[in-house]
Amino acid sequence: MFAERVLSGMRPTGRLHLGHYHGVLKNWVKLQAEYPCLFFVADWHALTTDYDNPKGIENSVWDMVVDWLAAGVDPSQATIFIQSRVPEHAELHLLMSMMTPLGWLERVPTYKDQQEKLASKDLSTYGFLGYPLLMSADILIYRADKVPVGEDQLPHVEFTRELARRFNHMYGREPGFEEKAKEAIKKLGSKRARLYEEFRTRFQQNGDDEGLALGKALLEEAQSLSHGDRERLYGYLEGGGKMILVEPGALLTEASRMPGLDGQKMSKSYGNTIFLREEAEPLAKKIRTMQTDPARVRRTDAGDPERCPVWQFHVLYSDETTRNWVTQGCKSAGIGCLECKQPVIEAVLKEQEAMRERAQPYLDDPSLVRSIVADGCDKARKLAQETMREVRDAMGLSYS
Ligand code: SF4
Repeated sequence: MFAERVLSGMRPTGRLHLGHYHGVLKNWVKLQAEYPCLFFVADWHALTTDYDNPKGIENSVWDMVVDWLAAGVDPSQATIFIQSRVPEHAELHLLMSMMTPLGWLERVPTYKDQQEKLASKDLSTYGFLGYPLLMSADILIYRADKVPVGEDQLPHVEFTRELARRFNHMYGREPGFEEKAKEAIKKLGSKRARLYEEFRTRFQQNGDDEGLALGKALLEEAQSLSHGDRERLYGYLEGGGKMILVEPGALLTEASRMPGLDGQKMSKSYGNTIFLREEAEPLAKKIRTMQTDPARVRRTDAGDPERCPVWQFHVLYSDETTRNWVTQGCKSAGIGCLECKQPVIEAVLKEQEAMRERAQPYLDDPSLVRSIVADGCDKARKLAQETMREVRDAMGLSYS
């Protein structure tokens, strides 16, 4: 049950651009080959800041999922779903809101930052304050132990870990826990039971982390245990109560180095983007008219690639030989800027061509996308329901 699992989501903001591709999607494509992955459209998150303008959300969702597929996210490897189609996220959010101290939410670093950044919007709402809690519910409901985040989002993962700890501490102490755990040990079989006791003693008496790791590995392998017993034994191993929610770990991802056409961060609000699946001619035109080193006013002026946004594209798209050609040609005024941009245009077009090809079947038949998402929602919902049964049980809401 506590198998490795990656969870990551994206707000539906419509068509994606190269910044999303290099910052997030390329990493998703890599992760899907390494772990079971759940990728979701965070449509409720979009409403925390755009509650007054929900009209575009639906179209944005489908455009975005087509971009994911175009970028190489593979539904046979990863589960793709929409947050609001799995209402258990909202239930866990609500139940956790009962035990989340208000101060914890107010102290989340992005709370004040975002309010200041989006000063034109009225974000003094309950939904916006609770947004980190919703994010925690998204993670905890799948017992996802790997959350890809940039450094700036680490506090969110830590917040989620604290919440899981608080929840387990508060509700994981079921009556007769110790007796139930001992009964569960017997179900491991005599050899495994003996090893489990040995690993538990090593960890609890000597603080031996290897003992803890071995105990966890043993539980992962023990197929015959029910979910409830497995949770008890995880908790008993660590010396706590029943572990209901799993503390996630962060998978630190490098910040995207993809600059916009003007050298600033690529962002729709700066109007400096290249969209995924953009038509060849406008795309080439955008790169041809990109800013360059301001010192190169005339063709005969020498330039410095480090002061030129085009160079950042070469760093991402060109091989060493091309990069040497650029450096020498720019510094000696041996090449012109249009000449310098040509390999970038070709490389981006090539990348886009593969994306357009992958997207075409979904554009021809949008029902394919609907059915991928419907399947993903079913799979995600089953996992979420499994957790919610334990959560309801622990909070006295199972009514069985
Ligand atoms: S030659 Fe290339 S790197 Fe140099 S200023 Fe022109 S576009 Fe930029």
